[in-house]
Amino acid sequence: MPPSFSFDFDTDHFKGKVNFSTGLFINGKFVDGSDNTTIDVINPTTGKKIGVVAEGTPKDVDLAVAAAQKAYDTVWGLNCPGFQRGKLLMKWADLIEEHIDELAAIESLDNGKIFVDAKGFDITEVAATLRYYGGWADKNHGKVIETHDDKLGYTRHEPFGVVGQIIPWNFPLLMFAWKLGPALATGNTVVIKPSELTPLSALRCTELAIQAGIPPGVINVVNGYGPTVGQAISSHPKIEKVAFTGSTLVGREIMRQAALSNLKNVTLELGGKSPNVIFDDANLEDAIEWAVHGVYFNHGQTCCAGTRIYVQASIFDKFQEKFVARIKAIQLGDPLKTGTKQGPQVSQTQFDRIMGYIEDGKKAGATAIIGGKRHGTEGYFIEPTIFTNTKPDMRIVREEIFGPVGVLVKFEDEDDIVHIANDTMYGLAAAVFSQNISRALSVAHRLKAGTVWVNCCNQIHPQLAFGGFKQSGIGRELGEYALANYTSVKTIHVHLTGKK
Ligand code: NAD
Repeated sequence: MPPSFSFDFDTDHFKGKVNFSTGLFINGKFVDGSDNTTIDVINPTTGKKIGVVAEGTPKDVDLAVAAAQKAYDTVWGLNCPGFQRGKLLMKWADLIEEHIDELAAIESLDNGKIFVDAKGFDITEVAATLRYYGGWADKNHGKVIETHDDKLGYTRHEPFGVVGQIIPWNFPLLMFAWKLGPALATGNTVVIKPSELTPLSALRCTELAIQAGIPPGVINVVNGYGPTVGQAISSHPKIEKVAFTGSTLVGREIMRQAALSNLKNVTLELGGKSPNVIFDDANLEDAIEWAVHGVYFNHGQTCCAGTRIYVQASIFDKFQEKFVARIKAIQLGDPLKTGTKQGPQVSQTQFDRIMGYIEDGKKAGATAIIGGKRHGTEGYFIEPTIFTNTKPDMRIVREEIFGPVGVLVKFEDEDDIVHIANDTMYGLAAAVFSQNISRALSVAHRLKAGTVWVNCCNQIHPQLAFGGFKQSGIGRELGEYALANYTSVKTIHVHLTGKK
């Protein structure tokens, strides 16, 4: 009997008991892992264990791939019209919306995410993403192409078959939807591994997929660790495509495994160290609100977080004073309580890693003008932190910290800031604040980033592509562009006379 998760929520936002299976989900059923081992689920708000999920092994990945292949050959892929796949994705989105409070509460408990954000952003966007790709399922057309011969030439956008997907813990259910939406809409079947740190919401959501009528074998969820289950997916000889979201370090490893096994098609959504550029003609109050959101949304655990805050010299002092005052108002605490604005980091490991960066920044001579310490005595809380007096080669300026830590730096003019902002191995996102549209857009065009926000930041929509330049990734998620991640182009030549 696979393990299950049971929890009685009695919180400001959600009251009620949840109870669902936390086995591996293979071929339409929750099952135990083949070694009968489990992974502990920890509540980051308290640091205490709240349950277990079944732990998968490479053998379970084999079983999941076989189930996914059978489903692809019989009930999905070319055997299920796009229109029907779209209907199922939309039905799934409807069920997710019906359970939005419960899913948001699970996400808050498992990840430490603020309930209001989990509901208003994560789960809302999960439903929107599945619905958006449901709409694409019967519109993924090829083209009819003229040649210089007497021919009918056309292309088809065909699914790969079984695709492997590996996702992180920072937006557990949203990353699940970003991966499954386009993969299923284009007709692939999936073997997916959630992060070992945050598996719960994906498992509850998979129950809703069954309820929506998505056939057995189409979605297979194998919980487990990266070096075992993750590696088995990225090196599996029967998986032709692997899509990964996570750190640049692991992304490199995924690509290596994909190349050495069967030269899989690979898409990577990786880390970032995004610049947030504030010119002297920006609306100061708005820019401050966005800058706070840019660094501290999701407790800084956002790949596109605007953690390098660059402010033009003439407004720097005024900005710093108001920015620090605004940060002081951020209330840390239980993410399931009303009024909390920042919850815990996801795990002890992440907590230690972030505190290590803070100590490193201090030792290197930077000044923590606010924060820089642990908050409270239990759970993994860190004060919102801003460093000044940094140098461009400091680790806190160059490396992704993935916590509530930003650097605040002065710049002189447009040429200066374009050079500073682009001086990074990353290129995921950037933001520009200015009331002068010519200035804002000319700088936006010169920044090397997959997304540039003008007078806003950390904005995501299912319709708009998202992904990285440089070492922030390969390929694009979201929008029409993501369909290409999950399809191969087949060209058909029809000779109209058949004569040689
Ligand atoms: P991570 O790279 O440590 O892990 C990501 C996933 O990979 C997890 O499921 C993990 O178990 C698995 N994994 C680890 N080692 C593996 C291996 N050797 N082979 C196969 N799989 C392996 O990242 P994380 O700590 O879970 O997430 C944070 C990172 O994700 C940050 O760098 C962040 O910027 C990035 N991220 C990027 C985006 C984006 O869209 N670009 C979105 C969210 C998160």
